[in-house]
Amino acid sequence: MLRSILIYLSQATWMRRLMMGWKIARKVALRFVAGETLEQAVAAVQALNQQGMFATMDMLGEHTETTKQAAQTADSIIKILETIENTGIKSGLSVKLTQIGLLIDESLCEENLLRILRSAAEKKLFVRIDMEDSPCVDATLRVYWKMRHDYQMDNVGMVIQSCLYRSEKDTTDLLEEDTRIRMVKGAYKEPPSVAYPRKADVDAAFDRLTKMMLDHAASPASPVVSGDGRWPPVTAVGSHDKARIDYAIAYAQEIGVPKEKVEIQMLHGIRRDLQQELAAQGYPVRIYVPFGQEWYPYFMRRLAERPANLWFFISSLFRK
Ligand SMILES: Cc1cc2nc3c(=O)[nH]c(=O)nc-3n(C[C@H](O)[C@H](O)[C@H](O)COP(=O)(O)OP(=O)(O)OC[C@H]3O[C@@H](n4cnc5c(N)ncnc54)[C@H](O)[C@@H]3O)c2cc1C
Repeated sequence: MLRSILIYLSQATWMRRLMMGWKIARKVALRFVAGETLEQAVAAVQALNQQGMFATMDMLGEHTETTKQAAQTADSIIKILETIENTGIKSGLSVKLTQIGLLIDESLCEENLLRILRSAAEKKLFVRIDMEDSPCVDATLRVYWKMRHDYQMDNVGMVIQSCLYRSEKDTTDLLEEDTRIRMVKGAYKEPPSVAYPRKADVDAAFDRLTKMMLDHAASPASPVVSGDGRWPPVTAVGSHDKARIDYAIAYAQEIGVPKEKVEIQMLHGIRRDLQQELAAQGYPVRIYVPFGQEWYPYFMRRLAERPANLWFFISSLFRK
């Protein structure tokens, strides 16, 4: 119930205006984001790199409304790629397709994504397409396949959400063409017609889908994480849930998949202890580093995932 309210509020314009104008809300949100500027994000990635971890940078923003804004966002994303190249940080990039025009016009989105991928390819960088709520899934996958098949871009990967019933079929299709996948549970409120309502089912599906990725990773041709940390392997477990990570590690050991093929991905500022522990054990650990001024919907989804975050937020209001 609380989760549904918070996810509803994450999309409400009136609440967005209210929260973004509120200094304390901004301060608390910055616990989950690396900062509001690219420089702050680079500093966060450098700190992670020093601790032996990699990153995927994400310029916050979604549901762009005009063609001009979508093109400008693509330009800003290309600047991030240039910065990754110039600073030598060990990072890839994540992008949401609604940021670059998916909801305005699919061909506009393709044009913008192609510019981003071509710029990344020149710099030997990898781009991950984040997955958004279920009405966007078909279009997101269509754009992905268009990049792979029509433009032969292979520096691009996908995200699969284990909460969706369709994900087993999507994962099979993606693995058939060696797609680098980040498995996540899913951050959006979905109806029972498309997604498992019970957390236990989402968790069980997560393990089944992880097993499929690891079976693919067992093939000698399946890539390891690149030496410069900028390219992930096929299997990325995007979760802070120790039980999901333990399952992935145990199954990988059972079928002899080496550590360099089992990447663990977590969000900036969440379970830092576990991030460091896994990196110390020799697993590739990649942290999702969001930054920018459009922090509101991202922050609300993080509140929705964990009621304790909401109490932390409310208590911060009283401390001020
Ligand atoms: C790298 C990465 C990229 C992602 N990309 C996408 C995407 O493209 N599309 C999408 O729909 N979702 C994405 N997500 C979000 C994901 O779908 C989940 O909503 C989120 O990861 C919480 O689920 P969990 O697997 O950590 O498990 P949960 O069962 O939700 O949490 C397990 C434990 O992790 C900790 N934890 C989890 N969330 C929080 C939080 N917000 N604050 C504090 N502690 C927390 C708690 O200790 C909790 O008990 C991504 C997640 C990660 C890690």
